[in-house]
Amino acid sequence: MTPHAQQAAVTCTVCPHECRLAPGAVGRCRARGWQDGASAPLSYGRVTSLAMDPVEKKPLARWKPGGLVLSAGSYGCNLRCPFCQNHTIAQVGADEVAWRSIAPEELVALAAEARMRNPRVVGIAHTYNEPLVCWEYVRDVGVLAHEAGLANVLVSNGCVQPWVADELAPLVDAANIDLKGFTDEYYRWCGGNLQAVCACIERLCAEPGCHVEVTCLIVPERNDDPAQMRALAGWLAQVSTDITLHVTRYFPRWKMEGGYPTPVRTVYELAEVAREVLPHVVVGNC
Ligand code: SF4
Ligand code: SF4
Repeated sequence: MTPHAQQAAVTCTVCPHECRLAPGAVGRCRARGWQDGASAPLSYGRVTSLAMDPVEKKPLARWKPGGLVLSAGSYGCNLRCPFCQNHTIAQVGADEVAWRSIAPEELVALAAEARMRNPRVVGIAHTYNEPLVCWEYVRDVGVLAHEAGLANVLVSNGCVQPWVADELAPLVDAANIDLKGFTDEYYRWCGGNLQAVCACIERLCAEPGCHVEVTCLIVPERNDDPAQMRALAGWLAQVSTDITLHVTRYFPRWKMEGGYPTPVRTVYELAEVAREVLPHVVVGNC
């Protein structure tokens, strides 16, 4: 590559935002940025949160019940959900949060050691912030985890271009993908793209070894219309009736502080709507 080319701006193709990255610039997600003429995962190996969690907390309702996963998160996200529960790590950049470097080898070794102490440990989860903006770390950990006999769990907003899902699908054993709503308007409010998320869910479901669950957080007066849930569940059922749908209660956070939580009754009523077409529907946070 010529010095001139190394100084040229580049378009990141990881997600539908397609950020134009000038030399030295950081993308909208704050996890990627320009480096040597390419879109680089600047947050690679930078871990802000590390905890051993039950798989049920991811949430995964129908995959290795009773299992534990070493759950790692970094910083950054390509969406801007006004209700983000994890905004202290998801809506900040490298300079605004404490992190430590954990190479893929070290993360897998930590999980393998934990499994020796407790056989309930089944794998590693990428979660807390948005893992796919640094998909390379998910890939590199995933390869090593499989070599060590550990499973890979992905908890994501699913808002990436299809090639990213193609790269990772063979490495993912279980995923919980947010399907935040089922209208373009709702996804615009969250700063995402409904079609990209749907394509990601379809791709993971097409992978024979990948167990897929989906979460829909119900925000009062935003996505609590039964017709929207009927359309969302109907689309999921057409992809696969094996998908577990989590219909989840919301509590006001971040820019929504001061609002009111979803009435429990609304969550149960929308779960009933989803059960008209999906056999596996659970409520969360109630
Ligand atoms: S992954 Fe980040 S840098 Fe790349 S297009 Fe999406 S928001 Fe922009
Ligand atoms: S996708 Fe998740 S992490 Fe990102 S802004 Fe929305 S709620 Fe926060």
